[in-house]
Formats: sequence, structure tokens, C-alpha cells
Amino acid sequence: MSEQSHIPYGMHHIEQDDIDAAIDVLENHFLTQGQKVPEFEARLAEFAGAQYAVAVNSGTSALHIACLALGVGKGDKVWTSPNTFVASANCALYCQAEVDFVDIDSDTLNISVESLAEKLRWAEKHNCLPKVVIVVHFAGLSCDMQAIDKLAKKYYFSVIEDASHAFGGQYQQQMIGCCNYSSATICSFHPVKPITTAEGGAVLTNDAKLAKRLNLFAKHGVTRDETQMSCATERLEHGDWYYQQVELGYNYRLSDLQAALGISQLKKLSHYIELRLEKAKKYHALLANHLDEYSIKLPLLSEQSAWHIYTIQIPAKQRKVVFDALRANNIGVNVHYIPVHLQPFYQQMGFKKGDFPIAEQYYQSALTLPLFPALTYQQQQKVIECLLAALKQTKP
Ligand SMILES: *Cc1c(COP(=O)(O)O)cnc(C)c1O
Repeated sequence: MSEQSHIPYGMHHIEQDDIDAAIDVLENHFLTQGQKVPEFEARLAEFAGAQYAVAVNSGTSALHIACLALGVGKGDKVWTSPNTFVASANCALYCQAEVDFVDIDSDTLNISVESLAEKLRWAEKHNCLPKVVIVVHFAGLSCDMQAIDKLAKKYYFSVIEDASHAFGGQYQQQMIGCCNYSSATICSFHPVKPITTAEGGAVLTNDAKLAKRLNLFAKHGVTRDETQMSCATERLEHGDWYYQQVELGYNYRLSDLQAALGISQLKKLSHYIELRLEKAKKYHALLANHLDEYSIKLPLLSEQSAWHIYTIQIPAKQRKVVFDALRANNIGVNVHYIPVHLQPFYQQMGFKKGDFPIAEQYYQSALTLPLFPALTYQQQQKVIECLLAALKQTKP
């Protein structure tokens, strides 16, 4: 990559073995509904240390069927973090449920367990406890799952982990996705995420019944499994071709072409995560002597994070100019995230500026620096040089 070329904020890492795996499907196998999807699911489950995996066509679909399988419907409440991509909240609206948010912790940038506990106490009094809380492992760093699980047991809600950023990372020395403290964990295989299938996602769970329902909702609500049928004896009257639609499901299938790519990528996930951690540490080292001078706040340096993104905080007044300066230097900085409740669509539902002040404050100073497995040290040095120059120029 030349000095002048664009450095994106995130980027897939496709190698010859990935290409060969995809071509193999094109030349030899089913394009969809063959053996690659079940194989990918088995390997995902094994990698994460979960019992079951259901692969689907996006992380958003995974969130949707996770909500449906947990019985989320009209009148139910689903809570999530405002510091996330809109999909973590939209999935509840797809199910006609109501969405609400819980503010984040200013250090981890994940859902604040204290704010969650406080809001649950309030909700219990007002008889409006959530059915599901979707926690988001922001930037790849796990939420405090043990504490969240305690609250889940006390207030009887289910937990979905949105691990779109975090698949490949760990919590308490176990893989994120093992679902020790949740009903289900969802992953995304969009190109900027830890591994990619172009578009794709999965739900991991240890609950056999939930896994069956996830499959049902991902495949039209249609089943050939007698135990899921409304009246199993009907099968005898029809024949072996018999199937029943027992829910309103969707076509959220992943294709075999994508699954083959996923199988190949998954073999390298642990290596990718090591590379990401290495680069995060390099950013930390490059910035260490400039933190006070420019009022920079670094992300928590966790060895267990999947390091999906490297987000720093800089003074809010300088953020826009610094962002523009880096972009002008072909450095694909980004901002994660505009708080979901500030989106016009959510404002029209009644959310206001000031509702979740820590997420809002964080957003004002957030800046995502490029981070992906193939990022070179020279590129990192260029990013930091440009960043420091821009901070210096705009220093009040
Ligand atoms: C990417 C992402 C999603 C959605 O995943 P898709 O595969 O793009 O549908 C959901 N939540 C978070 C936090 C994400 O980053």
C-alpha cells in the first residue's frame, strides 16, 4: 500500500484460502441449503463454546430472530445501549415491542450496570420491567456480564449479547458467545467485523428449545420436525414430504457460498484478534506521551477485547476539524456512534437530547482510528502524526 493510499477505518482480510473455499462451492456444491451452513454452524458453536449456532444472512437478522425466539412481541419492552448501531434497537421495533435505553459507563463505553440497576428499580415500581435487555460489547470489550446476569435473575428479563464487535474476544477467560450469562449471543459477519461472509450473522445459544425456535424464525416459520408441529399425526395422513408453517418466519438463510467463506475465515479469527490487540497496543504507545498535552482519552487497554475499533476521545470543540484534517490526509477516521435515541426516527418516538447524557457526551468527543489486521506500523505512525498535527493546529 503506497504512502498516499487511503487507510480505511476497518477492512476485511481475504486471503487465497478464503477465495479457494468460495470457488470450491461454486464449482462443486450446493450454492445454498447444502452442507456448508451446518458445518459453519457447528464450527461457530465449537469456537465460542456454545451448544448451538444458527447462521443467518446478517447480524440484524440475528438480532430479529433472537428477539422473536425469546417471545418479544407487542407490549413488551426491550432495553439496549444508546452507544450502538441502530440495528440493536430496531430489532425490538420489528417485533412491535417498545424500545428504551440505558446510559453507558464513561470508561468502558458499555451499558452502565449502575444505571441499569437504577432503571430496573424504577421500572419495577412502575410495572414496566423489560422482557429483554440487549447488551452491546462496544468496540469488542465485553460488558460486565456477571453483574448483568444477577440483575436478569432478580428482575426476570432475558439477555441478548450483541457481539457484532466482539466475536473472538473473551470475558473471564472464556470466549464471548459461550452464553454463560445470556440467553443468546449474536454476531455479525459484515466486512468490517472480526470475520466476514460479506453479509452474514449468527445466533449462539445453549438452550435447545431456543435454537429450534431460532431456526424456525430464520426459515419461514416452516418445520419438518414433528415435535414443532401443531398436530403431528397429520404427517401420517399426508406423507414424508409433509411440512407445517407454525410461525410467521422469514427467509434469513445464509448461503453455502457465504458459509464456506465463513469456515475459512473462522480458522484465522484468533490470529486476527492477536493482530488487532498488537495494533491497539501500538496506538497506546504512540499516544502515551501526548495525553495531557491534547486532553486525549484512550480506550481501556483490555487484553480480552476483540478490538473491533479503536476509539479515542478528544476535546469536543476540536473533533470536527481534526476529523476533516485526517480525512483530507486519506485517513478513514470514523465516529462510533451517534447515540441511537438522537436519530430522527427515535426522536419522533419521544426521546430527547439529554436523555442519556454520558452517551451524548462521549459522542461529542469520539474519534475512531483505523484498525484492521493488515494495518501496518507505518500506517499507524502516519495516523498518529496527522492526528497530533491536527490537534496542535486546533488547540485553543
Ligand atoms: C454491525 C452491527 C450490527 C448489524 O450487523 P449487520 O450484519 O450489518 O446487520 C448490529 N449491532 C452492532 C453493534 C453492529 O456493529
